[in-house]
Amino acid sequence: MPAHPSPQAESRDAVDVLIVGAGPTGLALAVDLVRRGVCTLVVEAADRPFSGSRGLSLQPRTQEVLDDIGVMDALREAGRPLPPMQTWRNGRRDGEWRLVERDPQAPVTRYPVQWLVPQWRTQQILQDRLLALGGAVEYGTRLTALHQTDQLVQAELTQTDGSRRTLNMPYLVGADGGRSTVREALGIKMKTEGGALHAAVVADVRVDGLDHDHWHTWPDGPGGELLLCPLPGTDQFQLTTPVGDEEGDPCPQRVRELIATRTHLPATAVTDVQWTSSYKPRTALAERFRDKRVFIAGDAAHVHPPGGGQGLNIGVHDAYNLGWKLGQVLHDHAPDTLLDSYDAERRPAAHDVLDISAQLYRLGRKPEGSRVRARHRGRLTLLPVHYRDSPLSTEAREQLTHTVLQAGDRAPDLTFTPADAAAHDTPRQLFELLAGPHFTLLAVDSAPPPVPPAVRTLQVTGGTLAQALGTGLFLIRPDGHIGLATQNPAHLERYYTKVGLAAG
Ligand SMILES: Cc1cc2nc3c(=O)[nH]c(=O)nc-3n(C[C@H](O)[C@H](O)[C@H](O)COP(=O)(O)OP(=O)(O)OC[C@H]3O[C@@H](n4cnc5c(N)ncnc54)[C@H](O)[C@@H]3O)c2cc1C
Repeated sequence: MPAHPSPQAESRDAVDVLIVGAGPTGLALAVDLVRRGVCTLVVEAADRPFSGSRGLSLQPRTQEVLDDIGVMDALREAGRPLPPMQTWRNGRRDGEWRLVERDPQAPVTRYPVQWLVPQWRTQQILQDRLLALGGAVEYGTRLTALHQTDQLVQAELTQTDGSRRTLNMPYLVGADGGRSTVREALGIKMKTEGGALHAAVVADVRVDGLDHDHWHTWPDGPGGELLLCPLPGTDQFQLTTPVGDEEGDPCPQRVRELIATRTHLPATAVTDVQWTSSYKPRTALAERFRDKRVFIAGDAAHVHPPGGGQGLNIGVHDAYNLGWKLGQVLHDHAPDTLLDSYDAERRPAAHDVLDISAQLYRLGRKPEGSRVRARHRGRLTLLPVHYRDSPLSTEAREQLTHTVLQAGDRAPDLTFTPADAAAHDTPRQLFELLAGPHFTLLAVDSAPPPVPPAVRTLQVTGGTLAQALGTGLFLIRPDGHIGLATQNPAHLERYYTKVGLAAG
């Protein structure tokens, strides 16, 4: 059952990349690939789009990424900043506080705060963008088996009615969630980290008698804390509360009972229960993210407890890292080694926040945890994620000071005045120039050499950008990370070969 007819849907049996799973990871990757002209098909086992609020918070770096792939305006409209927390005790308001304070040390960004959007809405916006670009999602289609050779991947797809077909394609990406069929088929093991974490239920509910300007919390409920977070763009709240390990998805009556026993509200205050789920959180990382022509991304590759608001975010970042690399290999003859850098870059990045997610999950959303949260708030924005140790990062400048950004770092969104600007021109933001699927060569206090047609050039003299980067030539990758930093133009040619930009 295709979501909507589209040009790519009609020619869906000739695909370059098959994405398994229409969650946020699969949809973000599909948008990035389709905008690069890569023939992409998303298959989704469920018969219809996901309807729960689950992954609510979009971190600052994720908002930058979503901006670049063209969906942030719609997400701004659909969401709101994280509201203040409201503690309740004995039926009375007992203090208002902030779950996450702004980090004064955080890099400059146009999206400095976490942004709340129900996950179903984020997915809807990503899917709308995908369809507008001519992409397709085929619902009711499950990947049931896969085989690969050195030349291609063969996927067996089974429709809800039991019919089967086989599809061959150069690359397949498993964005099929924590119980990934793709990961299983490849025999990739998950390394579980940390100790046991308590089970919880999540539900989208309508509740009378609460304002929608706070994230309400009852920390002392019998059985554990209960939270109700207002869901932007709706009249609902997302309920989360711990339960016993053996509890499955709760029925509406059980949700009412939990609210009546753990808050001051009566069961009758719950006027509707829209969606319910239960989860037993774990912290796990796949031992590798690539197996020849098949990749895994998002929850299929790493599972985070919902303590630091990271799972959906990291999945979108995986997609943004992999999309341009697949595009360069499929369209620009970049060598296959470019694809190896996906695992080299994304596995350490996912690992870096797993332990924080577990720590914050154990801590719960209580004011007493504010010192621990403050310690991690910078990393949780995902703005500092870097690929300095990647084989794809070449820092060739000598005598670097520690204060300047280096190859592998996220390029900063600072203002600059182009070297050829007229006197009355106003300064511009770097991300205005980086936006889009291209590479950019920044020549800072240096003369720009000639570049291949696919690279845009920007010459900058002095100013905050020059202070942040230092002098040199900086090749910025399509995902906004500095690939090469050098003072020697001859280094560029070698780098172009690695990423498919070399002539011929
Ligand atoms: C209570 C809760 C709160 C959370 N809060 C946050 C938060 O604030 N911020 C955050 O970043 N994250 C949060 N998360 C985590 C977030 O929801 C997940 O990390 C996110 O959904 C992962 O996206 P994904 O696309 O990788 O996988 P999924 O969303 O799981 O999507 C995978 C898709 O693949 C499909 N599929 C599976 N197998 C197959 C198959 N064989 N063939 C075809 N399709 C298949 C599934 O039906 C599904 O639609 C939260 C999670 C929970 C439970």
